[in-house]
Amino acid sequence: MFESELMRQYATAASLSEATIIVNTCAVTNEAERQARQAIRRLKRAQPEVRIIVTGCAAHLQPERFTAMPEVDMVLDNTEKLLAANWMGDKIRSDQREKQKKDLYNCCSAEPLLAAFTERTRAFLPVQQGCNHHCTFCTIPFARGPSRSRPPTQVVAQASALAAAGYREFVLTGIDLTAYGLDLSVEDQQTRPYGVGRLVERLLREVPGLERLRLSSLDPAEIEEELLTIFLADRRLMPHMHLSIQAGDDMILKRMGRRHGRADVIHVARRLRTVRPDVTLGADLIVGFPTETEEMFAHTLHLVEECGLTHLHIFPFSARPGTAAARMPAVASAVVRERAARLRAVAAESLACFLACRVGSVANVLLEKPHFGYSEDYLPVRLSFAGRPGKIVRVRITTANKTSLYGEILP
Ligand code: SF4
Repeated sequence: MFESELMRQYATAASLSEATIIVNTCAVTNEAERQARQAIRRLKRAQPEVRIIVTGCAAHLQPERFTAMPEVDMVLDNTEKLLAANWMGDKIRSDQREKQKKDLYNCCSAEPLLAAFTERTRAFLPVQQGCNHHCTFCTIPFARGPSRSRPPTQVVAQASALAAAGYREFVLTGIDLTAYGLDLSVEDQQTRPYGVGRLVERLLREVPGLERLRLSSLDPAEIEEELLTIFLADRRLMPHMHLSIQAGDDMILKRMGRRHGRADVIHVARRLRTVRPDVTLGADLIVGFPTETEEMFAHTLHLVEECGLTHLHIFPFSARPGTAAARMPAVASAVVRERAARLRAVAAESLACFLACRVGSVANVLLEKPHFGYSEDYLPVRLSFAGRPGKIVRVRITTANKTSLYGEILP
């Protein structure tokens, strides 16, 4: 989102007309890529005069597939899209452009400061890019390169600028957020190694006005004690954690090339709950990974209950060309679809039960719209009377349905 916002601001500064549409593609699944191509064709059919610029991971990995589309006017890869010159149409020398690209690739410190996000009450702060791991199903390391951390002083400066602009809630994002700090220079590390826990502690200490801090996905194999210590000590770190679990079966996790097992996930969930009993847990789960049997799938299904997961992102497995998983024996697509539907049903039930339990409680809600916002534990709350977007209000929860809470603002 930070990148999308940055591109929006570059495009505005370059006075790109409303007749230009930027399509930021995703390469996580074949389906996401197919949908991007479909969206491009649909956009052009609906507005033949529009100029289409394509960027993002799918365009980075296979630019030729997008340049070959007659609907597409320009393709920018993941480093080119972060260079203002590419949007301004500046005639900078190609060696200069190459140097800027190299700087951006080597370290995400070159990212400029954002003044604000359009139509959002929550600010997204990218603090880490790329990944050093090689999960057998994933193409992200090819598209985003190795792990690079944004120096902490820059993160603090960006957060301070956004807090001064009125943002109350921040989300630290990264491809592999728990790898934050590993590549920082001795100068940036100062007295001791930096991890995401130390970064969180520093942000909460140094950014006035920061009221709510969230973290994007965490790798269960890399959660450090320092993060748990600050999670216990400072309630501004919100009680909602999203774990990159992917599967609940040890053999599948091994074939995925993950660095955690089923027992590790259960242990992490218990630890988080011991530290903050009010925490809600989310997870990414892949269904129908090659060789997954019914019994292996059942291990994933049961993990939802064992760990009390309520916010699930479920991905039916989709083989990415060039990955090791694409060469493994596939599960029939009808079976993948059926398992995804069963897991979705379990996830929906888990969320609905949890929402029902919250009726009668009081929640602090950050309003994103006059009648809608999120609680501290990231539950959607709908209000009978309007409040001001951007404000944090106390809400009595009066009812719930399967997907949302409903309530009234307390005086
Ligand atoms: S850790 Fe995440 S980004 Fe890195 S290879 Fe694995 S799935 Fe991809």
